[in-house]
Amino acid sequence: MKKIYSLLLSVFIFIECAFPQSSDFVPGNSYWGKNHFVEYVAGNLPIIISVPHGGSLKPEIISDRTFGVNARDNGTQEVAREMITEFMGRTGKSPHVIFSHLVRRKLDVNREEFEAAQENTAALTAWNDYHGFIDSAQASARRSFGKGFLIDLHGQNHPEQRIEIGYRLESDELAMPDADLNSKEYIEKSSLKNLVKISAYSHAELIHGKNSLGALFDTYGVRSTPSPSDPAPKSYKFFSGGYTIFRHAAEDTTEIFGVQFELNPELRSQDHFESTAKLLVSVIIEYLNIHCGEKFTERLN
Ligand SMILES: [Zn+2]
Repeated sequence: MKKIYSLLLSVFIFIECAFPQSSDFVPGNSYWGKNHFVEYVAGNLPIIISVPHGGSLKPEIISDRTFGVNARDNGTQEVAREMITEFMGRTGKSPHVIFSHLVRRKLDVNREEFEAAQENTAALTAWNDYHGFIDSAQASARRSFGKGFLIDLHGQNHPEQRIEIGYRLESDELAMPDADLNSKEYIEKSSLKNLVKISAYSHAELIHGKNSLGALFDTYGVRSTPSPSDPAPKSYKFFSGGYTIFRHAAEDTTEIFGVQFELNPELRSQDHFESTAKLLVSVIIEYLNIHCGEKFTERLN
């Protein structure tokens, strides 16, 4: 038993040493996982954007997954790259951005490892690279700012044309009275759990009140749910958030909070890459200013 423990420890130390340390990263530069399947654009803002389903690589060394969802989130990589440019222009600093470049039938990084990689070694390495880069980005954000906001960026093709905002709460939970949303049970479940600790507003207000992400989208005339104009998705199809925000934005021991954005097709069409990026960056900056202290993002300059 002791032997196994020391073997595990040495493997762990090797992995720790082999993975690039955040102090080595230059903001704005790209760093790559093994085989160039995963890209990390290093940042110096407390903002982390993960882009799991926009990849196009189909390497032969990874066999196709035999179960799960394979739809591609077209346009999400392009929107994320425009967001880097927009953040740089507005704050002089870069967000942390993590891309999976593999098509989803080779790897789905927004699933736990068995469904994600289906026991393929190269896919599993890419999965570890992807989540390792997110961990590293979050550690950097916490070190510099004491907090971090994770945005997991997706695209959906549901009939209702609106941004779906996933907080790990299902449609029927989002439709509950505010008193229920403000109960310990649902705060614990929420990807905003760590924001509730520092915001002046209640959980229900953060979800669909006048200072929610949805309210900010309303001010730009962009439909989203949950929001004051569309407080719950009702019976329509809705993505409530997956593995990435579960793993990285709902831990008690970190100051990271997060959200899953599901963009409708128009927002990620070629004509809208830049305008969608500007919209998302404006909403994210305003949101952090409201909940992390007045003019929080000015202090990031
Ligand atoms: Zn997706």
